[in-house]
Amino acid sequence: MAKVDAYHTNSPEYPPTHRNVYHDHDDCKYGREIKLWHRVPGTGNRPRCDECIALG
Ligand SMILES: [Zn+2]
Repeated sequence: MAKVDAYHTNSPEYPPTHRNVYHDHDDCKYGREIKLWHRVPGTGNRPRCDECIALG
């Protein structure tokens, strides 16, 4: 379990749980489904993912 630099995605192939938030935890089940080449660095001015919050 580790924090990672914040990332988000703009790819329309992901549902809102993945796309409408940013992720910053490498164990996030939503973030892990985002392919590396779909990840954009930074928060994208989005709220933090609930799953990342739960993981700490
Ligand atoms: Zn997340």
